[in-house]
Amino acid sequence: MDKGVSKKTVDELCPQCGLCCNGVLFSDVELRAGDDPARLAALGLILVKKGSRTQAFAQPCACFNGKLCGIYGDRPQRCRTFECGLLKRVHAGELAADAALKTIAQTRRQAETVRGLLRQLGQTDERWAMTQRYASAMSAPMDLADSEGDSERRGELMLAVDGLMKRLQRNFLR
Ligand code: SF4
Ligand code: SF4
Repeated sequence: MDKGVSKKTVDELCPQCGLCCNGVLFSDVELRAGDDPARLAALGLILVKKGSRTQAFAQPCACFNGKLCGIYGDRPQRCRTFECGLLKRVHAGELAADAALKTIAQTRRQAETVRGLLRQLGQTDERWAMTQRYASAMSAPMDLADSEGDSERRGELMLAVDGLMKRLQRNFLR
């Protein structure tokens, strides 16, 4: 997403990251005043209802190409103003860009470990946000033919998700 504070920092870090667009940090993003839902839907965002009045778009974002926003000039308000904790600290001079890139790389590796375990447990739908995939994998019926292996993988997944969530909380969400 775009931050608007220091474009140089955003250009340097965000294409290496994508965690706020790819379904790892968020499962959806709410629209705000000033957003035009019909136009955003026409541009490719998948809109979902949240309650009776709120609309949101689902993540992983349909307009994310794996590195960049495909509708950058038309992105929703929330994307224009969002700044994760990592960017905030870099902008404030509390964290060097190199250290932030290292954190991004470590976090992406952790997310990939979680994806690998989800796939092993039969959760292969990459269109879902990570938390939704996790909930689906953990609530699926156990594989009775391999209940020990299944339960071991679920344990590994729980630990991997816990580690990832702690890292996201610590580095990106505050
Ligand atoms: S619209 Fe663009 S900036 Fe916003 S979540 Fe999607 S890819 Fe990211
Ligand atoms: S989580 Fe932060 S560093 Fe990563 S893409 Fe989003 S704004 Fe950029």
